[in-house]
Amino acid sequence: MKKNIILLGAPGSGKGTQSALLVKNCGLSHVSTGNLLREEIEKKSELGLRVQAVMESGNLVSDELVTELLRAKLDLNQNAYIFDGYPRNMAQALRLEELLEGHEYLVFNLSIDLNKMVNRLTNRRSTKDGKHIYNLVTNPPKKEGVCDITGQPLVQREDDREEVIKERFEVFRRSTEDLLKYYSEKGRLVNIDADREVEVVHKNIVEKIC
Ligand code: ADP
Ligand code: AMP
Repeated sequence: MKKNIILLGAPGSGKGTQSALLVKNCGLSHVSTGNLLREEIEKKSELGLRVQAVMESGNLVSDELVTELLRAKLDLNQNAYIFDGYPRNMAQALRLEELLEGHEYLVFNLSIDLNKMVNRLTNRRSTKDGKHIYNLVTNPPKKEGVCDITGQPLVQREDDREEVIKERFEVFRRSTEDLLKYYSEKGRLVNIDADREVEVVHKNIVEKIC
């Protein structure tokens, strides 16, 4: 059975981009709590309506709500997962530890120069479901505003505006040290230089899991 993977890293560090490559090349399943939440907003479900304002402000949604949404998606006996965007704090890390009991996992810390974060995020465009990610500067679609693969329109996320990015960075900064310490002490942490080209980052991750 393949190992599960947790991707840690600032917004814009490339978690979604790397997840797509890992799904394609390594047969892992991708679970992004951000995508799950955006799906609820898109559906205008009761949950979606409750979380929309919090997400658009750059703050975290409640641990219970996100954990339940995630838990409902998992079938750890059948699949090995890439956890993208979860855990975001120690409470979530402890919950995930329970969920992963009896299953192998590795944690990749995608580190980037934080000055590049704003540029990457303001130029990010993706399909509404978040599955196909582009960048107007480093990875533009062939036809402006249209996904090369699915033909769906590309959108800019509400929380990729500069003022919200600052708040998201602060939220990230507050919890990241504890998470890195926790996984490092468990001997599960692998540091990855995520400032390199997409393919190089991918190769460096794959080297550790195959
Ligand atoms: P995250 O999921 O961590 O928020 P994304 O994968 O959505 O990050 O990437 C954020 C933006 O940065 C996207 O526009 C993506 O195309 C771009 N990007 C991702 N990885 C790289 C990289 N290694 N070099 C340059 N741009 C990248
Ligand atoms: P992401 O797509 O990972 O950049 O997440 C976008 C937004 O979704 C975050 O800014 C939070 O508001 C919310 N979110 C995603 N994952 C979590 C999580 N694990 N815990 C709490 N909120 C989350």
